[in-house]
Formats: sequence, structure tokens, C-alpha cells
Amino acid sequence: MNAPITISGGGIIGNYISLRLKKSHIKSLIIEKSKDSQALPEGIRTLTLNNHSMAMLKAVDLSVEAADVNKIEVLDGEGTGNIQFSSEDISEESLSHVVLFNDLRNELLRMCRDETIFSNEIQSIQNLNKESDPEVILKDGTSIKTKIIAGCDGRNSNVAKIVSLPNSYSEYKQTALTFIVDVKGADQTTAYQVFSERGIFALMPMPKKDSTTNRYTVVWSIKNSELNNQDAMDYIKDNLSYFESKLKVSLALDSEILQFGLSNHHFKNYISGPVVLIGDAAHSIHPLAGQGINIGLADADIFCEEIIKAYEKGISINEKAVLKKYEIRRKGMNLLMLKSMDFFVNTFNSENLYLRLLRNWGLKSVNKTMFIKAFFIKHASGFNRI
Ligand SMILES: Cc1cc2nc3c(=O)[nH]c(=O)nc-3n(C[C@H](O)[C@H](O)[C@H](O)COP(=O)(O)OP(=O)(O)OC[C@H]3O[C@@H](n4cnc5c(N)ncnc54)[C@H](O)[C@@H]3O)c2cc1C
Repeated sequence: MNAPITISGGGIIGNYISLRLKKSHIKSLIIEKSKDSQALPEGIRTLTLNNHSMAMLKAVDLSVEAADVNKIEVLDGEGTGNIQFSSEDISEESLSHVVLFNDLRNELLRMCRDETIFSNEIQSIQNLNKESDPEVILKDGTSIKTKIIAGCDGRNSNVAKIVSLPNSYSEYKQTALTFIVDVKGADQTTAYQVFSERGIFALMPMPKKDSTTNRYTVVWSIKNSELNNQDAMDYIKDNLSYFESKLKVSLALDSEILQFGLSNHHFKNYISGPVVLIGDAAHSIHPLAGQGINIGLADADIFCEEIIKAYEKGISINEKAVLKKYEIRRKGMNLLMLKSMDFFVNTFNSENLYLRLLRNWGLKSVNKTMFIKAFFIKHASGFNRI
């Protein structure tokens, strides 16, 4: 078996790369650990795609039902600071698009089925440091002659472990609760976010609304010390009314609750010989700004761009410079996003009075300064590329 690109991990990023390369007639093989099955229709977890990510999916003929967000309201729950971002600020129709994680994953799975080997994983990579092309050996003994191994296998990347890339990792000591609420009093195209001592509370409109319900998805990050081993349902019952009064809406729980421990990681190097890390395999961040999938798709975009450019110029795609260009173009941008998220988490977690006054003043000032606001929005929309 052979393919110029072997992709470890058939998640959103791995499958997108395969589709994009196929459009340029570059063959890839996806090795996916889980079995070939549609994800359970839990319909709770959502992803907020920025305009650039949405355009990337459309360009590979993928369509998925989305709720468009035209306005984002951010409030400091403990103070009076607030900021509003609107699509009008950047002359766009919308700011972002909320899709169900399983809708997107299942559609990609369907489109990439012919390129995927399921229930398997890479066990070793031969000829890693040699002149000849690498050879991937799978758990069942299958051998694949290849040129590049793209690690798209998520937070605990298997290929990163095989080539022993050094990683920095830290825990936020926070838990994210995700669930659906039926909302009264909210605007259907507005997303809301409250930073408070009771956690970072994000409320996003859901796709698939019907005329009788106005369903929103909640991602609520709470300090583990605040949650204090309490049952998630009890914590929600005790604290939801706080956000109802801050946002002046009424919220009724309308699903089971999903729970995730929060951490971040970042690899110092994204490449080692023919192995390259992309998406959550290379980095993960706090979900407060819903940027995880967007920076993963931005990685995938630049990786494909460099590979396709080399292929069309007749340069060997496993030339060191080809992968290095991807790393240079993405690492700085990803680090900036990671550090910005950490800054927000730390500033809004703080009980220090001066920091609180500063963040209130900061939010109000940014809100009044159009060009800074437009910069933030354009950055979050994925339009700032290197
Ligand atoms: C609570 C929460 C909320 C979030 N909300 C948002 C949001 O609103 N917006 C947003 O942009 N992002 C969000 N994220 C982040 C987002 O979900 C991830 O960034 C995204 O799923 C990463 O995609 P990926 O394809 O890189 O990795 P993954 O989704 O982790 O996919 C990896 C794939 O590799 C497979 N795999 C794993 N190990 C192996 C192996 N050894 N061999 C072969 N295959 C393997 C897995 O089965 C999987 O299919 C959120 C995350 C959390 C925890």
C-alpha cells in the first residue's frame, strides 16, 4: 500500500486535509483508531466556526446546518465592563456560525470513508532519519510507503509520541460543563459571554431550532475549587439564576450535562523529519473563545497550501523546507492565541481589586475604540493570515 500523505486521526482536521488534498489530486490515507460508525446523536456539543473556517468547508463542498451569530455581548459579571462585537463593525454578514460537533464530524466521515482505514493505528515508522521514504507500520501489520505523516490524532497524539517530540502541558484546574437551555428573552442571532467568579459562561444559539423552542448551548468553565466536587446538576441549579439576572433572560435546562477537564498544551516543534503535527495534536487551548477548531483549521489550511504549492511546482513534498514553512507560518499565531486565552483566564479569575478596575476600564475603552474592536474581530474571524 502507498500514499504520499498518511494521516493519523480521522477527526475534523484529518478529514478536512484529506478532502482538500484530493481536490488537488494528491492522494492521502487516513488511519483512524475508532471503528467506522456515526457519532452518537447526542446533539449537545457545538463548535463555533469563524467565517474563514466556514469558507474553507464550503470550498471542499461540505455543507452543514448552522446558526449564524451576528452579535456577541461580553459582560464582566462582577463589574460594569462590557463590550459588544457586531458583524457591522467589520462589514460582514455574520461574525461566526454555530454547528453541532456530530453533524460536522459525521458529514466528514461520510465524505472521507473511501480514504480511511478504521479500527487501526500507527505502531511504528521505519526509515525516519534515512534518505529513503518512510514506511508506516500499522497495528495489524499493514505497511504503507509514504512521504509525510500528518499527526491529526488529537490531544494525546500517537505520532508525536512515536517521534518523542517535547511538549509543554498545563492544567487550568477548571471543568467545562456543556448543556442545552431553552431561552426566553434572548436575541436569536446574538451570542453572550459573562466573565465572573462563578465561571466563564458562554451562551450560543443552536442550529435546528423549531418554532416552539429557542435553544441555546452553554459552555460554562468553572474553577474546580468553586465546583468543589459538587454534583454538576446541583451546581447548575444553584447558580444558573445568577446568569439569568446578569443577562436579563430566563434559562431552562433542556438536556443532559457533558463535563470536560480543561488543560492546554503546545509542542515546541511541530515537525520531526517527515512527521508533522496539526490541530489539537500540536496545541490545545481554553474553550472560552471557541477558537480550538478554528486554529486547527487554520493550521490545516496552511499545511495544505504549502503541500499543494510544492506539488504544483514539481518540488518533492517531503523537502524539509516545505514542512518548515508550515511550522513558521502557524507557530507564532497559535502561541499568540494560547497566551491571549491564558491572559483572559487569569485576569478574569482574579479577585484583585486593581485588576478588576483595570479590566472594567479595558472593556469599556476597547468598546469605544472602533479600530481596536475591528482588529479583534478580524483576528477571531481568521482573516489575519501570515
Ligand atoms: C468543552 C469543549 C468545548 C469546545 N468548544 C469549542 C468551540 O466552541 N469551538 C471550537 O473551535 N473548538 C472548541 N473546542 C475544541 C475542539 O473540539 C477541538 O479543537 C477539535 O475537536 C480538534 O479537532 P482535531 O481533529 O484536531 O482533534 P480531535 O477532534 O481530537 O480528533 C482526533 C481524531 O484522532 C483519532 N485518534 C486518536 N488517537 C489515535 C491514534 N492513536 N491513531 C489513530 N487515530 C487516533 C480520534 O479517534 C479522533 O477521530 C472545544 C473543546 C472542549 C473540550
